[in-house]
Amino acid sequence: MASDLKQEKLDQIAAEIVSNNVCPNLAQTANRLVMGDGNPDADIVFIGEAPGKNEDETGKPFVGAAGKFLDEMLASIQLDRADVYITNIVKYRPPNNRDPELEEKKDFFPYLTKQLAVIKPKVIIPLGRHAMNAFLPDFKISEVHGKAYRRKLLIEGKQTEVVFLPLYHPAAALYNGGMRDTLLNDFSAIPHIIENN
Ligand code: URA
Repeated sequence: MASDLKQEKLDQIAAEIVSNNVCPNLAQTANRLVMGDGNPDADIVFIGEAPGKNEDETGKPFVGAAGKFLDEMLASIQLDRADVYITNIVKYRPPNNRDPELEEKKDFFPYLTKQLAVIKPKVIIPLGRHAMNAFLPDFKISEVHGKAYRRKLLIEGKQTEVVFLPLYHPAAALYNGGMRDTLLNDFSAIPHIIENN
């Protein structure tokens, strides 16, 4: 499917979220829906937790401090935002950046799998435990970060094989140099994983 047709379909999913009144409490306190950014035809999809203040203001995911570090990590493997797709599990900013609640993650999950059905990435990279546990419920990020897992995912009623590569959330590295090195090191494995899948 051509990239502009994929973008059209992603726009339709965004419109569905609004018309189905998903998470009305969050919709009320947030300024806008933050659907995603990047190339809808990408091999790699990054999935974060939820928009923060900057994302809520701009409508784009990962544009604050954590996003700057994500851009830096992408550059370290010669990629930029136009080469990947970036989204979040929860698409509205939770008040005061609190953690998204289980029900909120559940309510948005069907729309996330619809996005994945359109993009059809080779590799899904959950950033942090919220995104990871939505797909891999029993996994502990400290044990599995940087390792690739091939799993079946129910996408639009079809069991589809995808590779998951859980990574720490870039915000975790902002004030922790050790974590920063771990993330950069985990990122360096991405080109090899893409090549082999
Ligand atoms: N953190 C996230 O998980 N997502 C964003 O979009 C920004 C910060």
